[in-house]
Amino acid sequence: MIAPTPALFLDRDGVINVDVGYLHKPEDCIFVEGIFDLVKRANALGYKVIVVTNQAGIARGYYTETQFLDFSAWMKNEFSRNYAHIDEIYFCPHHPVHGLDKYHTQCDCRKPAPGMFLEAQAAFNIDMQASVMVGDNISDLEAAIAAGVGLSNLFISSSIDRTITEIEEAQAKKLQIKTISSLKQVSLSNT
Ligand SMILES: [Mg+2]
Ligand SMILES: [Zn+2]
Repeated sequence: MIAPTPALFLDRDGVINVDVGYLHKPEDCIFVEGIFDLVKRANALGYKVIVVTNQAGIARGYYTETQFLDFSAWMKNEFSRNYAHIDEIYFCPHHPVHGLDKYHTQCDCRKPAPGMFLEAQAAFNIDMQASVMVGDNISDLEAAIAAGVGLSNLFISSSIDRTITEIEEAQAKKLQIKTISSLKQVSLSNT
């Protein structure tokens, strides 16, 4: 039996890349400052690095799953070129209202549901309590907390209005989270 391993869970849009809306082309991808260093730090400390991303653009027909997977392969390779490693990318292609055909469903993977986290937990034998989530939406953190992730970081990189709204919502829902304005502020064990 292999001992459980901690994971660094990352939302994609707004955490790994600047959220330009339905990103699916390399030429539109701007990486968030500090993301390669954060992933390198996690790699060095023995964390699995797991991306968990809602991709309603697939549900809406803006791009296909194949286009998403091609883009994901490109993104993982950009991390490799920067000496950082992403272990897996989980995505939800559904939407309960705007999904077309098979994507129109109330699934258990779209955040704030914890499905993607639980799938990763089973696949990688993850110690959820020792794990860390970084997201830029309350729904990211609700999903992580529902899955038992020990530390949830709300990454606020955009406008002050958004900051206030998100923090107020987190307080109203009494979420146990840490608010950060730089990816350098993500605490991993021994750092
Ligand atoms: Mg996001
Ligand atoms: Zn889903």
